[in-house]
Amino acid sequence: MTIKTLELPVDMTSLWEATAHAWKHEKLNGPASADLVIVGAGITGLSAALRACEAGNSVIVLDANHPGWGASGRNGGQVIPGLKYLPEEIIQQFGIDPGEKIVSFAGRTADAVFEIIKRYNIDCDAIRGGWIEPAYRARSLKALSAKTSQWQARNADVELLDKKAVANATGSEVFIGGFYDRRAGSVQPLKYSLGLGEAARRLGAKIFSHVTVSSVDKQADRFVVETNKGQVRADRVLICTNGYTDPSFGPIGRSVAPVASIQIATDPLSVNLRQSIMPGDISGSDTNRLLVYFRLDAEGRFLIGGRGATFASGLERLFPQLQTHAVKMFPELAGLDWPYRWGGLLALTADHYPHIHEPVPGLVMAMGYNGRGVALATQWGAAISEYAMSGDINLLPIPITPIRKFPFHRLRTVGIEVAAFWYGFLDRIGV
Ligand SMILES: Cc1cc2nc3c(=O)[nH]c(=O)nc-3n(C[C@H](O)[C@H](O)[C@H](O)COP(=O)(O)OP(=O)(O)OC[C@H]3O[C@@H](n4cnc5c(N)ncnc54)[C@H](O)[C@@H]3O)c2cc1C
Repeated sequence: MTIKTLELPVDMTSLWEATAHAWKHEKLNGPASADLVIVGAGITGLSAALRACEAGNSVIVLDANHPGWGASGRNGGQVIPGLKYLPEEIIQQFGIDPGEKIVSFAGRTADAVFEIIKRYNIDCDAIRGGWIEPAYRARSLKALSAKTSQWQARNADVELLDKKAVANATGSEVFIGGFYDRRAGSVQPLKYSLGLGEAARRLGAKIFSHVTVSSVDKQADRFVVETNKGQVRADRVLICTNGYTDPSFGPIGRSVAPVASIQIATDPLSVNLRQSIMPGDISGSDTNRLLVYFRLDAEGRFLIGGRGATFASGLERLFPQLQTHAVKMFPELAGLDWPYRWGGLLALTADHYPHIHEPVPGLVMAMGYNGRGVALATQWGAAISEYAMSGDINLLPIPITPIRKFPFHRLRTVGIEVAAFWYGFLDRIGV
């Protein structure tokens, strides 16, 4: 079986690569063995590695590229707690006790990120300035009001803001109100990912770059992980490849749909502009179906991200659209240069919940954060790691499910484009 790593077909200059420190690559030379082998060195895999090392296990992490190369080192760096669903929707789907367990897990994910950053002294421009979800329309504001009351009922530090308060918080006049979550914050995501890796390394993890895994098989009582650099053996294996899971990587590769998200960023804004655009270290994502997310980085560059495409002409069309959207929100940005543009792949699941699978006892797969993985993958990685090492099912936030093919997986690119066109249309006409 040939496994290739997926990538967007466009030259990219990522702001995060330009502003992160270098990673010291380790080479895998010949056979190796560990208690736990982790495939994929993004936030999920590295957080899992850190937790397993904390518990005294030997850990090997293998990445076809290098730590933080995937979505984890390219995202918007918004550390947002919760899932896409409202707490009551989760409870309706899973029942009261399992539902509240998921809500409580998801509500704590941002805390977990900032606790790890503090514990391991990770230098990643971490700021806990809160997150705002501003609305353009009354209908969205009504949904945000329900979200606010459901989280407030669980003692979360959240609030519904009126138009004036949103204008004060964002500096933009285009919104009519919004949801404000003080639990949230932001990080430089590549620095955060590398920091997780460095912390795991200090506790003994071996993290190998440029090692592509092509298969995992159980032989006798151990797993044999085949790679382009030789075999690695382990008692337990975690697959943490998310949006970069190759469709040819068995059924797991067809269980999620890789979707592109792209971003652009300015040079550092003038002191004047920094006071009027997203003052107060806040980050935000709007309520559109095809949402945009935006914030300032630690040096005051404005960055905005949104839907991408997996083909070059689509990407070339979408980058300027982001610029136009930014100027609509903040007219003061007109005429500025946007020297950075980049993107990556996230993983969608059919039910919009992240999934955990265990097709063979001891082989655990976790993916599908549906674009909200910085906080969630940190906690999800830790939870699957604890489960893999202990076998205690109570440590998992969500039940293990069988691997199911994403509907019409082979047609997913066309399907996602059609859905994006339709959602964009609904957003434009305000439905
Ligand atoms: C542009 C963009 C913006 C986003 N913004 C936000 C945001 O602001 N906030 C938020 O919460 N979430 C955001 N997300 C989502 C978030 O980044 C992801 O959910 C999260 O990073 C997933 O982490 P991961 O470790 O599971 O996967 P990834 O970070 O994608 O890592 C997967 C790794 O697996 C490796 N791999 C794949 N196949 C193999 C193989 N066969 N052998 C070895 N290695 C392999 C890859 O090289 C890669 O390094 C964004 C995503 C994108 C793309």
